[in-house]
Amino acid sequence: MTEPIIKIDAISKSFGNFQVLDGLSMQVMPREKLALIGPSGSGKTTILRILMTLERIDAGHIAIEGEQLYHMPKNGGLVAADERHLTKMRQKIGMVFQLFNLFPHMSVIDNVTLAPMLTKGVARAAAEKRAMELLDMVGMSEKAKAMPAQLSGGQKQRVAIARALALQPKIMLFDEVTSALDPELVEEVLNVLWKLCAETDMTMLLVTHEMGFAHDFADRVLFFDRGKIVEEGKPDEMFSNPKQERTQTFLRKII
Ligand code: ADP
Repeated sequence: MTEPIIKIDAISKSFGNFQVLDGLSMQVMPREKLALIGPSGSGKTTILRILMTLERIDAGHIAIEGEQLYHMPKNGGLVAADERHLTKMRQKIGMVFQLFNLFPHMSVIDNVTLAPMLTKGVARAAAEKRAMELLDMVGMSEKAKAMPAQLSGGQKQRVAIARALALQPKIMLFDEVTSALDPELVEEVLNVLWKLCAETDMTMLLVTHEMGFAHDFADRVLFFDRGKIVEEGKPDEMFSNPKQERTQTFLRKII
């Protein structure tokens, strides 16, 4: 039997007194495309940031390909993370943020080559060759020498996707990647996600408010509310016949 590529087991996370996640468990299978939906503040982004090790957990376990993301100290207490181990684990996961986060002082191609050169010691020529292939895939090779400020939001987001792919992650996390874009630019970014879905076997987790896209893209949809998974299922079931009242209310409002 195939093992889950991501195994989240009873994780909790608080910011100060505010508990965002309370004993959350979920599993993701290799190549699975997952949509995380639910009201703002329900903890969806926090889960992606925890997987990306941008936030630490207070309790629980996370395994990526069977390897623990965090080491628990023998005497209990807070979760401790070993930086070298984290760096290795981070290379398995790429993330694209709502607000692009390109390095503003670097050209498009330098944005894409930086991480492979810095973290994997890839030579410049090889990194640039690979970057051009990725920029081609997202339809941005003609802008390789441009600076981020010269690009539209949709173009920046496509470069951000190419940059995340440069480390050849097995898992890609997309955090509301279209919600900061003008409506006419949303489609060009969704088209790139489609392409990744069709042409690669990456595992993909997508936090989104684009319900139509979530329906078509996802193998499975998870509905979050107040740090818990209230309901999950196949897109057709979730969108046409949600069982929980909270899911029904949310979908009635948003669709
Ligand atoms: P979602 O992605 O579902 O909108 P988030 O995971 O972004 O939800 O946020 C969940 C809750 O945690 C929100 O109430 C948010 O304000 C809070 N939160 C997120 N990050 C921080 C932080 N760094 N410090 C304090 N509160 C935070």
